[in-house]
Amino acid sequence: MRFPEYFKDGGKPIISFEIFPPKTDKGMEPLLEIIPELVALGPDYITVTYGAMGSTQHRTLEIASLIKNVYKMETACHLTCVGASRNELDEILRRISESSIRNIVALRGDPPQGDKTFIPPPDGYAHANQLVDHIRRLESEKGQEPFGIAVAGYPEKHIEAPSMEIDIANLKRKVEAGSDIIITQLFFDNKFFFNFVERARTAGITVPIIPGLMPILSVKQIKRITSMCGSSIPHELQLELESAADDDEKASEIGIRQCIRQARELLQHGVSGIHFYVLNKSTHIHKIIKAL
Ligand code: FAD
Repeated sequence: MRFPEYFKDGGKPIISFEIFPPKTDKGMEPLLEIIPELVALGPDYITVTYGAMGSTQHRTLEIASLIKNVYKMETACHLTCVGASRNELDEILRRISESSIRNIVALRGDPPQGDKTFIPPPDGYAHANQLVDHIRRLESEKGQEPFGIAVAGYPEKHIEAPSMEIDIANLKRKVEAGSDIIITQLFFDNKFFFNFVERARTAGITVPIIPGLMPILSVKQIKRITSMCGSSIPHELQLELESAADDDEKASEIGIRQCIRQARELLQHGVSGIHFYVLNKSTHIHKIIKAL
């Protein structure tokens, strides 16, 4: 099933999980144990991220294919513009299609560590709207059934964007290029999401906007992630997390409570779905899904 089909009726909220490919073969072992546990929780689909460079990229397709073809669960491959020429993108898209995967999360990707700006690869793309456009053009040239395409949205503004207005205008380009849904960056205060949706609707963006929630697993980890993606931690949550310090179990309990609180409020507001960044673990998401 493709993204637009999930959201066309506006029925029950669509629940999705996001996992990432491990860096090493050894790292695959725990993930292979966790995938059936995640599948058993019954999300509508699971997406698999695309590593910045190198070895994890082929694992995106390997893992997504396993979810789709062995566990018979719907999935999406993330795909970025990083390091790929147009011909290479065509080759990756061909392999995704051959694996019967019908959905893509289309992204630009981050600049390599240490670089402030994103330098497009030779004969490649500078922005996600160009990647979406490329996918749509290729489909129509080949007469293929279209992929379901999701793109990223940023309730607290993308870290490089000079203003929210400009970021929303750029988001609109991605939708106009042919994306079906928007999945947001993680946030810990629902107000950012509600404001973002309002601004997007005012700008004429009509596709479903799916909030992305990340349950905190450790204080160190969430500080690293938020410093990279620009999401803020509200003061009260910050204080709670300080009381956990290096105690990951306590941090995870705080994270689960926070995630349930946010998810309940979002569901009460009638969101079309929730995308959980599950960080390749199952215990915490099991508790969250059970509570919801
Ligand atoms: P873009 O939409 O290209 O936006 C990047 C910046 O450029 C923004 O500031 C935007 O305002 C501006 N901009 C956009 N279009 C234009 C334009 N046409 N002209 C001028 N300016 C423009 N990263 C990975 O490496 N792998 C993943 O699998 C991955 N998955 C993600 C999933 C989700 C749901 C989210 C929210 C993020 C994900 N990321 C992933 C991170 C993402 O790659 C980074 O946030 C990246 O910095 C921006 O990607 P983008 O697709 O939003 O880029």
